[in-house]
Amino acid sequence: MDPVREMLTSVLDEVRGEDAGETAQYIPELASADPDRLALAIADPHGRRIALGDEDPFTIQSISKPFVFALALDALGRDEVLRHVGVEPSGEPFNAISLEEGTGRPANPLINAGAIATTGLIPGPSAGERAARIVEGLSRFAGRTLQVDEEVYASEASTGDRNRALAHLLRSYGVIETDPHEVVEAYFRQCSVLVTVADLAVMAGTLAFGGRHPVTGEQVVSARTARDVVSVMTSCGMYDASGSWLIRVGLPAKSGVSGGLIAISPSQFGVGVFSPRLDEYGNSTRGQRLLERLSDALGLHVFEQH
Ligand code: GLN
Repeated sequence: MDPVREMLTSVLDEVRGEDAGETAQYIPELASADPDRLALAIADPHGRRIALGDEDPFTIQSISKPFVFALALDALGRDEVLRHVGVEPSGEPFNAISLEEGTGRPANPLINAGAIATTGLIPGPSAGERAARIVEGLSRFAGRTLQVDEEVYASEASTGDRNRALAHLLRSYGVIETDPHEVVEAYFRQCSVLVTVADLAVMAGTLAFGGRHPVTGEQVVSARTARDVVSVMTSCGMYDASGSWLIRVGLPAKSGVSGGLIAISPSQFGVGVFSPRLDEYGNSTRGQRLLERLSDALGLHVFEQH
């Protein structure tokens, strides 16, 4: 067997028996997911991909946030985007009502408040168009046409009152400059996009390789945008557990409540993992273990001395 595949298989097998945590309970369609699903994929800069474990898709959830932030940065430029959303760790849970005193600017684009503000920046005159443009943008990162899971979307929409409240607050401050209802619907759709770990690995890879897709060769976003996004993932990608994650694993990352997780080894790898049981921060428990093992085994910590 190929030595990399062999190493990845053994890392996957090491964590398989761990069953701490539980599926996201606040979105019914996610609560009922099979908690034992497990998958891992990596992509390198030459378009080589290795995917192991469960091949079925799942919804991207908050892993969409760094990519939509990237689309906004590329479309509007850094200064304009940062007028609407900050780049500081919030130190608060992902769904916190975390808005800057006076301006209402969310702390960063990777918590819900900041992500909803970012979605509102993507050009699109109507909900349908904004959401379609976002799905199309996410598809360019994946290198294939992605689809929305309509059941998960309906489930999000029926339980998304906190996100709706956030959108209305953002509108009251002028951070969202358009209809907040339309923006939050687009946000629910972006969270409900279906991906596999192989998709996540190339999406992460596109950010790891300066915005260039490792398989299609398309420059999806500029190298500067990719660098900005990876920087924010380093400080904010694991919500209020981002500091301990950086010490333990040392890789820019982003998690989602369906149990997906991406990590970036700059210029080397994009990694995608999936396991639906979450810890109290909303981060995949086995996903984190997997990446911790992988980072140790390959010496990937970004501050490691080589
Ligand atoms: N759709 C979820 C929400 O807005 C995404 C949160 C997450 O993945 N952390 O609540």
